[in-house]
Amino acid sequence: MALYVQKYGGTSVGTVDRIQGVADKVKGFREAGHDIVVVVSAMSGETNRLIGMAKEMQSQPSPREMDVLVSTGEQVTIALLCMALEARGVSARSYTGGQVKIMTDDVHMKARIQDIEVDNMRTDLDKGRVVVVAGFQGIDPDGNITTLGRGGSDTTGVALAAALKADECQIYTDVDGVYTTDPRVVEGAQRMDKITFEEMLEMASLGSKVLQIRAVEFAGKYNVPLRVLHSFQEGPGTLITTEEDDTVEKPVISGIAFNRDEAKLTVLGVPDIPGVASRILGPISRANIEVDMILQNISADNSTDFTFTVHRNDFAVAEEILQQVKEELGAREVIGNNKIAKVSIVGVGMRSHAGVATKMFDTLAGDNINIQMISTSEIKVSVVIAEKYLELAVRGLHSAFDLDAADTVSE
Ligand code: ADP
Ligand code: ASP
Ligand code: MG
Repeated sequence: MALYVQKYGGTSVGTVDRIQGVADKVKGFREAGHDIVVVVSAMSGETNRLIGMAKEMQSQPSPREMDVLVSTGEQVTIALLCMALEARGVSARSYTGGQVKIMTDDVHMKARIQDIEVDNMRTDLDKGRVVVVAGFQGIDPDGNITTLGRGGSDTTGVALAAALKADECQIYTDVDGVYTTDPRVVEGAQRMDKITFEEMLEMASLGSKVLQIRAVEFAGKYNVPLRVLHSFQEGPGTLITTEEDDTVEKPVISGIAFNRDEAKLTVLGVPDIPGVASRILGPISRANIEVDMILQNISADNSTDFTFTVHRNDFAVAEEILQQVKEELGAREVIGNNKIAKVSIVGVGMRSHAGVATKMFDTLAGDNINIQMISTSEIKVSVVIAEKYLELAVRGLHSAFDLDAADTVSE
């Protein structure tokens, strides 16, 4: 008999009926003799609804109060699921993150888990109870409620699985596994039986929201067997694994990730002297804005252009900061564009193949899509393009790299 940590996402607990469905499923696992710890998200749309209400109160609510607010969504679903389980004769007990003692640092809205107390959970499991834990939240050393960033229930699941040394962490969601790209964008996307941690980490960090990046990091670090499955359909799902499969010929590209949440800023005509990058990006990082890609042109006349990308939510604040920096540096102009998207091809097979980037650029050129920025690493190539071409680019690349399922033809 095994110990499973099962995480059910927002859509899977999005209605009372679906919560009943999850309860039926968990009951089945109990009847098969397994020990189960369940992590649930808030009902789908709930976290966004709470954030929307907060914005009506104050334009920049304090992160501490945001966490008190948004953590409530998961408190609703843990209690409802326990009731549904008890109604089925399955003994169950719910815990908020703070009650379990999921200890985090004090960085509100993107806290990191530091420690988890397992004693209460073990006692419950020993008494034959299902333990139901609120995803996405913890408590800091001063007792403040913290949350783990959007999609953070995945990380709660993996962290609990690591702490309890579970046999598997199962992420149940509204797709039946990890696909070569988002199946909602490319009809011919294919489910993978396995994907390496390394590739999954890239996919997640480049925008594939099927798993939160920190969950993948955590699973890799603590060797947690991790699987993505459909909540209400049978199937093997996708196993995230450390082994690179040597038995089959590896595809050069495993998957395509994309991200619409980016914005681009450029300072034109900055003097080409030492320290400029730090004078531009210093104030940006002090405002807690994360920078993704950075590009600086060579200069012909002792002045240059400096471009970088940030999350779209940070665009307005970053632009304001740059106006100030422009004055200080005597730069010519600040321009910005928040209608961009990043498309990335990912695959460990790239290491041993030349010409992958060129094939990507040729494909985009064939569709008349202009590349605005490029960045590469050992197992990925990313480009920034106009957002309106995103779907076209992803579909074109998916078929150019032979990822389409055999029975679909993409135009
Ligand atoms: P949950 O609420 O269960 O956490 P999410 O919406 O966070 O679910 O993640 C599941 C979604 O991720 C899918 O509905 C799918 O549209 C999207 N997705 C993006 N990229 C991929 C991919 N490569 N494989 C599978 N799903 C993907
Ligand atoms: N409810 C949170 C969110 O919507 C956490 C999660 O679902 O994983 O981001
Ligand atoms: Mg999610």
